[in-house]
Order: sequence, then structure tokens, then C-alpha cells
Amino acid sequence: MNKEEVIQGEKQYLVHTYNRPPVVFERGEGVYLYDTEGNKYLDFMAGIAVNALGHGDAEWTAAVTTQAGQLTHVSNLYHTEAHVQLARRLVENSFADRVFFCNSGSEANETAVKFARKWAGARGEERGEKSEGRGARGERTKTRLVSFSHAFHGRTLGALSLTHKQKYREPFEPLLPGVVFAEFNDLASAQAVMSDEVCAVIVEPVQGEGGIHPATPEFLQGLRQLCDRHQAVLIFDEVQCGLGRTGHLWAHEAFGVVPDIMTLAKPLAGGLPIGAVLVTEAVASAIEPGDHGSTFAGGPLVCTAAQVVFDRVSQPEFLQTVEENGAYLQHRLKTMESEQIMAVRGLGLMIGLELKTAAAPLVAAARDKGLMLVAAGDNVIRFVPPLIITREQIDEGVEILEEVIG
Ligand code: PLP
Repeated sequence: MNKEEVIQGEKQYLVHTYNRPPVVFERGEGVYLYDTEGNKYLDFMAGIAVNALGHGDAEWTAAVTTQAGQLTHVSNLYHTEAHVQLARRLVENSFADRVFFCNSGSEANETAVKFARKWAGARGEERGEKSEGRGARGERTKTRLVSFSHAFHGRTLGALSLTHKQKYREPFEPLLPGVVFAEFNDLASAQAVMSDEVCAVIVEPVQGEGGIHPATPEFLQGLRQLCDRHQAVLIFDEVQCGLGRTGHLWAHEAFGVVPDIMTLAKPLAGGLPIGAVLVTEAVASAIEPGDHGSTFAGGPLVCTAAQVVFDRVSQPEFLQTVEENGAYLQHRLKTMESEQIMAVRGLGLMIGLELKTAAAPLVAAARDKGLMLVAAGDNVIRFVPPLIITREQIDEGVEILEEVIG
């Protein structure tokens, strides 16, 4: 197919959930992408914070190729080694005792909610309620969920119920009942909606889609205390900010607060679909065989890919370089002279540049000059490059940005 045939084919055969620009990508190498016309692009978006090791990493490619030739899928009805190897790495390097694998960020958050509900039911039984957390009239008593303004937790119905943006929610209502939204980074607002009926509070330690907003340590610490006081689980959605993106292995390490559940996805398998739900033993002990499942989840291919990513990203030197390069990129953006810039914020290589005007025209102009960016919300440009990006490549990207920002 040539470029025009691909674009026409997309119009004809695919459901129109995306407005794609007229570029067809053919291959990638490191932090660069190449389209069908041979144009080269510096990738500052990494497939929306996914390609942590960039494109075509030799070790990753070799591991995936070998594993694909050996075993790709057998279902979760049987034992395989790769998901045990990956789960062991995640457990040994986090607060968690156990892991459930799935296929995406949305699915990870769906799972987290189910686990929280089941855990809350088990707690209800302990409190002497009839069964599974039911009250005197047989109703479930501890089912409410707290989420926050500007939160993005995914597009499937449960995850969408926790996502704040009206535009995403409205066409699909009614959503999950019992979800309340408090103000992000406003502890009093969270306190006002907390009660013993809340089973879980879900929050992104650094909000991504909502415009790159880091939480304050006091906010996350306060949420931890509220959850403890009301016997609710604290869920950190680290689908975007987790696994090295912030210069810490887990974003919550920057805040000194530990969750009961953490969801991961985007970068974990370096470009293959994966999700993971990391839980404490207390949460895991409420889950029994048959409570949850997923056909493709934790297959040998993705889990082999993820081991390569994890082993590389979790190296202290790797994380330190992310932190240093992130600080350098922030510095370059903060010292850029432009009337357009309102604010620069973020952590590690997860940086938002807030504009006075809409982000989309600037993203398009940068792409035309060979720089791939992605917006977060209407007026924020999000910088989430491959974690392997170098200072020279950061300079290269900032120079293109300077040309187009005006
Ligand atoms: N949670 C966060 C914080 C995200 O940024 C995203 C995706 O952008 C999701 C959940 C949903 O992940 P997925 O698109 O893999 O379902």
C-alpha cells in the first residue's frame, strides 16, 4: 500500500475514534521514527509514554523474536515461566506482595476496582455484616469510589467512571454508580467526600492526560491517612508515570507514600500490550480463583519483553540519567523565551508545558519540522520521550520547538 492507500483505507475500514494526521510511519530506530516518504522525526512522545527503550532496541527485539519462536500464548489455564519471572521482579522491587497481569491501563484499573470491592466485602464480613459486606437489608455497604478532578484512568466503562472529563463520560452514561470526585491536590475536598462507605481512593501521583500535574507530598500523605482511617484501599494509577518515567522506579517514591494497589501498563513491555496490578497480601487474600481473569494476560511473549524493559529501567544509573535529563529538559523549557508559555512543570521525563493558546496547532507545526509531540488536554504540550533520550537529542528537540513556538 502506498501512503494515500493507507490513509484512504483507514477512512473506509476503521471506526473513526481518532483524527490522524496524514503521516504513515514505517519504522523506528532509537528515538527516531521514519515515515513512508523517508522523513525523519525525533520522537518526544514515545507512543504516549510507552516506548521506554525507544524503537527497535536490539536486546528487546532479540528476546521477543526468540520467545515468539518458542511460545507466545497458552492461556492462563496452565503454568508458564515468563510471568513468574516478571512478577518476581515487580514484587521484589516494590511494596507489593503479588501481581495480576492484564492487557492495558484501563483493564488494570478495572481490575483494581474489582479487587478493592472484593476486599471491602471481605472486611464487611469481618465486621459482622451478613455476607460480602452486605448491610441489614442485603445491600452492599462499602462500594463507593473516590477519584479527582482532571483524573484520567481509561476508557472502558469502569475506568471511564473514574475519569473526570465530561466530554469522555457524557455520551456513555449511566456510568458506575457511587463514584465521587474531589479536587486534586486539595485534601480538604477529599476529606469532605470520605466515609466508611468508600472502598477505594484512586489517584495518579503525577496526572498525565489531565495536563501533567504532580501531586503534592502532603496531598498523597493525607490520602493515605484518610484511607487508613476509613479502611479504604489507596490505589495509585502509575500507568503513565510509573516505571522510571519520573526518574524514580515508581512515581510514588518521590512522595514517600505507599499504596495498597498500584496499576501499571504503558511502558512495561516496551511497546507490546500489557497491564499489571500490584497488590499487598491483604488485598490479594480477598481474591479467590474464579474472581477475575483475562485470556491474553501475562502471556510468555509480553512478559519476556517486559523483563528486558524492567531489568534496564530499574538500574540506578538508568534512573539517575532519566532524572538528570528530565531536569535538563525542564531547564531548557523554562528558559525558552516565548510569550506563549504559561508554565512548565513535571517530574523526570514527564513534563508539561502549558500554553496560553491551544496545543494542537503547535503539535502539528512541530511534526512538520520533524518533532513528535503530544498534547495533554487542550493547552498543554506533554514531553514523554523514550527514557533513553540523550542531552544532545533534547537540544535537537528544543531547537525545533523554539522555531515553531514563536
Ligand atoms: N491511566 C492513566 C494514568 C493513563 O494515562 C492511561 C492512558 O493514557 C490509562 C490509565 C488508560 O490506559 P490504556 O489506554 O492502556 O487503557
